[in-house]
Amino acid sequence: MENTDLNIPMPEFNQLNQPYWDSLAQGHLSFQHCTCCAHNWLPPRSECPHCLEDKWTWQAASGKAKLISWVVYHMAYHPAFAQRLPYAVAVVELAEGARLISNVVGVEDFESLKIDQALQLVIEKEQGLAIPRFRPLKCI
Ligand SMILES: [Zn+2]
Repeated sequence: MENTDLNIPMPEFNQLNQPYWDSLAQGHLSFQHCTCCAHNWLPPRSECPHCLEDKWTWQAASGKAKLISWVVYHMAYHPAFAQRLPYAVAVVELAEGARLISNVVGVEDFESLKIDQALQLVIEKEQGLAIPRFRPLKCI
């Protein structure tokens, strides 16, 4: 895809992170699980960030998560983001412990966001690429 100013920057795909993107395309968010110390992490890396061993597997996340921190953008620093203002960029912690930077979507009032707020995974397509986002978990 041509990278014009109207396209958001795309990730660089490599042998290490391709399973992550393939999993999302199939409807699952995956994280790495260390088979030595049981630590779970994202983004993809070749060694466990906790014990530095290279023995790990991919595991599918439950989709349950909580909000660790966030910032609401009211100004576009890239032209492709201008039409989505305002939007929230957040650090999200999966129930399994891995953290990732994502967006919180489906929020009418960003002032309502709270630390440790329960979130639910939603996988959305962005320029044909499946990416993980999160929405507040609402009681029914
Ligand atoms: Zn480990």
